[in-house]
Amino acid sequence: MTVTGRIHSTESFGSVDGPGIRFIVFTQGCRMRCEFCHNPDTWKIGTGTERTADDVLAEALKYQEFWGEKGGITVSGGEPLLQMDFLIDLFQKAKAAGVHTTIDTCGQPFTKAEPFFSKFNTLMEYTDLLLFDIKHIDNDAHKKLTKQANTPILEMATYLSEIQKPVWIRHVLVPHRSDYDEYLIRLDAFIQTLQNVDKVEILPYHTMGKYKWQEMGLKYPLEGIEPPAEDRVKNAKELLHVADYTGYKNRKLQLV
Ligand code: SF4
Repeated sequence: MTVTGRIHSTESFGSVDGPGIRFIVFTQGCRMRCEFCHNPDTWKIGTGTERTADDVLAEALKYQEFWGEKGGITVSGGEPLLQMDFLIDLFQKAKAAGVHTTIDTCGQPFTKAEPFFSKFNTLMEYTDLLLFDIKHIDNDAHKKLTKQANTPILEMATYLSEIQKPVWIRHVLVPHRSDYDEYLIRLDAFIQTLQNVDKVEILPYHTMGKYKWQEMGLKYPLEGIEPPAEDRVKNAKELLHVADYTGYKNRKLQLV
């Protein structure tokens, strides 16, 4: 039986979701409900365009000449890990074609229960890098911010460290939610326990997706909250030691 994925959209020249220039596949469906989400139109599971891995890969490969040494394919969302069979098929075929593969995930679907865990391990064989979003280090605050617990997310981060799969940790800095020194210091302490972090990125909260909530008839939860000031972004970068993570070579040195 041919495996298909539910795809929200694609972007031909992504430059912020992984190394180099990348073809970005936005999958449809997410169980989180982040208050700052700028893609609420990707939430609904089971909608989007049904596409095969061959079809998506053929579209991506049209842009291969622009990828250089670093670029490739990033699957983002929505939440890609909700479509494990499709992801395995796509990345198996992408690796066979010599393509660098990245997943941008919030980690929420992660579990060591079967059949998910075996599929996840298979997927990791064909995945070069994960952009791993940790939305909040405090479980109660995480539930308030995303409507889901952070327990499976932190468990997945630890597991990726155990198997030495490279990650870039990403953290959206939201005033009145995550932008408190106490939380940032706790997040830093957690990240320090991981042995596979090539990069830490602070993504300042922005309001560019607000119109989508309005278009969907949804009340925007962060009404009145402005993006963080420059000094708060600088503070977060310092507390999370962003400058210390300079890529794979650096991590290798740390491990020696
Ligand atoms: S995990 Fe991503 S797609 Fe899902 S609600 Fe949060 S920001 Fe939106």
